[in-house]
Amino acid sequence: MLAVQIKAEAEILPLISSKRLFIFECLGCRDVHYPVEEAAEFIDSLKNEIVGKAALDYLCHREFAHEYVKAYAGEIERAEVVLVFSCGVGAQVVSSLLEDRIVYTCCDTLYVNGFQGLTAKEFNCDQCGECYLNYTGGLCPVALCSKNLLNGPCGGSQAGKCEVDPDMPCVWQQIFDRLAKLGQLHTLERLGTPKNWNVSPTSSPPEKGLA
Ligand code: SF4
Ligand code: SF4
Repeated sequence: MLAVQIKAEAEILPLISSKRLFIFECLGCRDVHYPVEEAAEFIDSLKNEIVGKAALDYLCHREFAHEYVKAYAGEIERAEVVLVFSCGVGAQVVSSLLEDRIVYTCCDTLYVNGFQGLTAKEFNCDQCGECYLNYTGGLCPVALCSKNLLNGPCGGSQAGKCEVDPDMPCVWQQIFDRLAKLGQLHTLERLGTPKNWNVSPTSSPPEKGLA
C-alpha cells in the first residue's frame, strides 16, 4: 500500500503535447492515499485525444495488469503515449509490459511510516517522492542503481553489468537501451537538475526494505 500525489501539470503537459493518450488509473491504494478527485480533474482538463482508459485495483500485480494490457491492446496500439496514475511500482509494471510504447507516470510516490503490505518490499520503488521514471524510460534509478544515481551511468559499468555487483545489470545501461529503442534519447539531456526532496515527507530516501 503506497501513497501517491498527482504531479504538477508543468511536468506532464510538455511531455504529452498533442499526443493521443491511453490512461491507466490504479485505485488499489485509494484507502492509503490516492487523490481520486484530483486525478479525475487532471484527466478531464487534458486537451489531448484520449483513445481509451482503464481503471483497476492493483496495477502493481503484474499478471493482473498483463490481462488489462491484453484486453485494451487495440486502444493502446492507437495511443502515442500511455499515461499511468499510480505509484512507481504500477508505472514500472506498465512500462515493462509495454516496452515499445512511451509510458509516463502522472504521480509522485511518497514514503509513509507503517506497514505497507508486501508491495514496497517486493518491488523496485523506494518511494523517493519526486518520481524520475518519466526521464528514465520507466526504469527506476533510485531503487535499481547501486549508487542511486540520477545522472548515470557512473563509468564503472562493464558489459552491461554493475561495477558494485556484477551479478546485476547496470540499470543506466538499460535506461539508455530503452530510450534508444523508443527514439527518446534526447530525454537524457534533461537530467542534471537536483532532485527535489521536498516532494517527499522525509528529507532523504528511506532505507531499502523499510516499511
Ligand atoms: S523514482 Fe523510483 S523510487 Fe522514486 S518514486 Fe519513482 S519509482 Fe519510486
Ligand atoms: S554500474 Fe550502473 S547500476 Fe552500477 S552503480 Fe554504476 S551506474 Fe549504477
